[in-house]
Amino acid sequence: MKDPREVIRRLHAHSVRNEHGCLLYQLALDPAGYAAISVDGRKRNGHRVAWEAAHGSIGAGMCVHHAVCSRRSCCEVSHLVLVTRSVNSSIQLPRAPKKYCARGHPLTNQNVIRSGTSKRRRCRICRTRYNAAWMRAYRARERALAPEKASVVIGHHEPLSSVGR
Ligand SMILES: [Zn+2]
Ligand SMILES: [Zn+2]
Repeated sequence: MKDPREVIRRLHAHSVRNEHGCLLYQLALDPAGYAAISVDGRKRNGHRVAWEAAHGSIGAGMCVHHAVCSRRSCCEVSHLVLVTRSVNSSIQLPRAPKKYCARGHPLTNQNVIRSGTSKRRRCRICRTRYNAAWMRAYRARERALAPEKASVVIGHHEPLSSVGR
């Protein structure tokens, strides 16, 4: 890592602190829910980067484990421990229902969406934001296309009289 302090500054700038002391990265998460941050031109996991910046490089065969909070987007270095890969895969966390979504919104009954028969509990705030972002993108595209569309309509519109019978 060329500039650990700059990386840490970025991690903090895009994270929120929760009441458990977690530093939850907000900017980008990978599909598994881990913080995704670009470091020296490579996409890396935020918690691993946070560990390296604080303690130096992670040895081969070692894993950075969320020992305190088990929240994958957390980059708080005091919540992380270095374990061997085999230990990491043998750690079976009790599968208590998650209290927070990956972005740190509380998964209270009001904020949880259960779809169909799926056991997955999804965050309403995140879904609403996602939908709003999608609609904004959709409207922007519509606006961008609108003048063109209008001229197409005008160009193809024949006066009724010329259609004739
Ligand atoms: Zn944490
Ligand atoms: Zn959420």
